[in-house]
Amino acid sequence: MLFKDSNIVKIEYIHNFQLFLIQMSIHSMKPTQLDALATELHASYQSLKNKRLNLDITRGKPSPEQLSLSENLDGILNNNFLSAAGEDTRNYGNLRGLSEICELGSSILKTPASQVLTGGNSSLSLMHMTAMLQYTNGTKGSNAASPWQSLDNPTFICPVPGYDRHFSICEALDINMITVPMLATGPDMDAVEKLITENDQIVGMWCVPRFSNPTGVTYDKTTVERIAKLGTIAQPYFRVFWDNAYAVHSLSDNAPELNSIWVHCVKYSTEDSVWQFASTSKATFAGSGIAWVASSTNNLKALESLLGITTIGADKVNQLRHARFLTDESALKAHMQLHAKTLKPKFDIVFDSLESELAEFGSWTHTDGGYFISFDANFGLATQIIELAAQAGLKLTPAGATYPYGKDPEDRNIRIAPSFPSEDELRKAMKIFTVCVKLATIKQLIDQAS
Ligand code: PLP
Repeated sequence: MLFKDSNIVKIEYIHNFQLFLIQMSIHSMKPTQLDALATELHASYQSLKNKRLNLDITRGKPSPEQLSLSENLDGILNNNFLSAAGEDTRNYGNLRGLSEICELGSSILKTPASQVLTGGNSSLSLMHMTAMLQYTNGTKGSNAASPWQSLDNPTFICPVPGYDRHFSICEALDINMITVPMLATGPDMDAVEKLITENDQIVGMWCVPRFSNPTGVTYDKTTVERIAKLGTIAQPYFRVFWDNAYAVHSLSDNAPELNSIWVHCVKYSTEDSVWQFASTSKATFAGSGIAWVASSTNNLKALESLLGITTIGADKVNQLRHARFLTDESALKAHMQLHAKTLKPKFDIVFDSLESELAEFGSWTHTDGGYFISFDANFGLATQIIELAAQAGLKLTPAGATYPYGKDPEDRNIRIAPSFPSEDELRKAMKIFTVCVKLATIKQLIDQAS
């Protein structure tokens, strides 16, 4: 008769016990089983910590490979600096931007080129400038709107979770923020309409309508129409900030499409109530792309007079480079498919890891585009998870960042940005992330049981 070595028997026993724990629902575990699982997880956490990794999935930056997709921008002008209209792009002037690049903005925003202004490299700075216009000057004439600063308590509606830099603009201008939940169809429109009809201090609303940051939600047709219609029930100074940062950033051909808000605004005569924004930051070079703003003729005129004080014109050489590189909608689409080729496997790594490891430990939104995945841990755990991850060498966006004032009332939302690290780094990052989520959750269950 053969006897197994006692160490082998012990290892097999531990292995079988681990398998048993892994297969068992955490919610049906007894305290001793939870303790055993916590010990296991602690050991895994410690061994990850010992690797002294330095990983970062905080901000949605394009990876070096993505940036290389646009390297032909360099030298594309080949000493020909003349725009389609024959302007020397090296010189001053044309605050509205080259017509060929306004055309590109028009196809991205599904809004006529006559309603588009092309700015510099950042849509965020256009948003800030526009908010400043509405705050300090307001608008006069047929689009008349009092300056927001003349109100007692100017307030923005912020669908949450949302984009921290939007909230920073409000904070910088001392604009109050009220949250509404993001649903699978977009912001909770019943809540939005109620706020607007009941509160005359509501001056605006943030929207990231396609592949929202961070939930990845694309607003459905009804939501787009209801937002376009808000101008019929809101105060004249109310403005939607329609930040279409991920308008063309799908990961698959079946990704949901977004309806044109402009078309609906025309239908309800609410063109003055919406400012739209987009940029090529996540299509060409994040730091030196092209940004657009679109709105009614009168709104744009007001913005131009403010912009004209700060600049004689944006960088038209860069506008021309972009117009020659992304010649039309189909060239842009083909270019974005190259981005999707490198991004999709990274999103899949995150989704696979969440599905295989964290089914019982949280929830997340599935997205077919954009730059982010939004993960909700158990109530009260986000700060702890992010701290645990930081100690094990993984930087995550600070807890609360997806809420106004940096305060997530449930302390559970964590934004994951998979674009920048390599696939190998991302796998390691997700290993740390999943162990930290499990460890924090099991500790919470043990505390609750005791
Ligand atoms: N808007 C959203 C929703 C974003 O996620 C980002 C960047 O992450 C930006 C705007 C920044 O855009 P830009 O680079 O054009 O300033």
